[in-house]
Amino acid sequence: MAASINGVGGVGFGGLTCSTKTPLPSSRSSSFRVQMSVPVEDKKRNYTLQKSQEAFNAALNLMPGGVNSPVRAFKSVGGQPIFMDSVKGSHMWDIDGNEYIDYVGSWGPAIIGHADDEVLEALAETMKKGTSFGSPCLLESVLAEMVISAVPSIEMVRFVNSGTEACMGVLRLARTFTGREKIIKFEGCYHGHADPFLVKAGSGVATLGLPDSPGVPKATTSGTLTAPFNDIAAVESLFNSNEGEIAAIILEPAVGNSGFITPKPDFLEAIRRLTKENGALLIFDEVMTGFRLSYGGAQEYFGITPDLTTLGKVIGGGLPVGAYGGRREIMEMVAPAGPMYQAGTLSGNPLAMTAGIQTLKRLKAPGTYEYLDRITRELVQGILNAGKKTGHAICGGHIRGMFGFFFTEGPVHNFDDAKKSDAAKFVRFYQGMLREGVYFAPSQFEAGFTSLAHSPEDIQKTVAAAENVLSKI
Ligand code: PMP
Repeated sequence: MAASINGVGGVGFGGLTCSTKTPLPSSRSSSFRVQMSVPVEDKKRNYTLQKSQEAFNAALNLMPGGVNSPVRAFKSVGGQPIFMDSVKGSHMWDIDGNEYIDYVGSWGPAIIGHADDEVLEALAETMKKGTSFGSPCLLESVLAEMVISAVPSIEMVRFVNSGTEACMGVLRLARTFTGREKIIKFEGCYHGHADPFLVKAGSGVATLGLPDSPGVPKATTSGTLTAPFNDIAAVESLFNSNEGEIAAIILEPAVGNSGFITPKPDFLEAIRRLTKENGALLIFDEVMTGFRLSYGGAQEYFGITPDLTTLGKVIGGGLPVGAYGGRREIMEMVAPAGPMYQAGTLSGNPLAMTAGIQTLKRLKAPGTYEYLDRITRELVQGILNAGKKTGHAICGGHIRGMFGFFFTEGPVHNFDDAKKSDAAKFVRFYQGMLREGVYFAPSQFEAGFTSLAHSPEDIQKTVAAAENVLSKI
């Protein structure tokens, strides 16, 4: 069984075996080794972020907050982002020359490892023919076929350029199909930054301490109802007080945007039943979990099939891609097959399709998810054991290549539980781990990601570093 948040994760879902036949990740050169096991206060390692600091100071003048996506600014862990120079496999190098074992994976896409040689070669070949056609190309159909055959709920798919776009499109589609306007989302779940979803939207917003965003007209969120994750009674009560008005429930089937939170064993089943009973659609936002919890996503892993699904991250293999898909009769409402308008200048461009195709090909090989499960279990168990050994309240869990931990006893079943964790301790832990050459997401409210390129040695070094840091904070 999966390591779990207080025994919740994976219970009753099975399928989490630790295979002894898992392949080792592709070989990596010794230049990928990170310098590790240096105590936090050891000046000999000469850890400096001077160039990053200078680059950030310059960027502050050029871009709001010096970044192009808020969580990158490190506001919740010290306000000094690290500028990266290059990535390969499971490692990253910053512009000061520091090397890190990376557990952010570009926020999810890098599931086969960064800058994978086969992906880069395929991209170079595709690029010779051009970068964007603005008309159909065969690669779109190849990736569409791969997605349709992998994800249980998807009979037709529309490619877009980001997870945000996918969620915007799917919401319009659910409203078109049902002729209803209201939706239910869960507190702490993030579905991109489109106006209707910026209500109790988890990680990025929570990290900045903004409950909602200014500039979002009340009218655009008036149809957005919210309930705590894992609270089926709250969902029932919303259906009762809004009878015949709810178009859809949208959720992250395993949450990554409040930290990593797993559904209680009967939660998804109950949501599936309630949506059917009330004529509402069920939308799984699998932008994070798609092709990460299993090749068929969280829906395959948990055995619950939604009506519609959004994807992103992994299916673009590091290039900008999102997608939404579902039952044919619903998808045929999308223009030009149907009346619901949605379009995109760069949608389905050959480069993004190529990176997605190559990434999925690699993921489809036997043993990949068993390998992700094994190394991620070792990582999370190692950190939890180190935390307990050094006297910290800590809980956490994983499913396959997605994980998280909180500095609280737990249990953590929803965003309010997650917020009970010791944020100040997370900052100390985070800063200590950076100095040890380990790069976690710079927020207590983000999930972590492993990849096929993470070696058992990476994991051992990370656990040793965690024990070292935890013994000092
Ligand atoms: N949905 C989920 C579940 C996400 O995690 C994210 C991004 N982290 C999005 C939607 C939005 O995706 P993007 O950042 O590509 O717009």
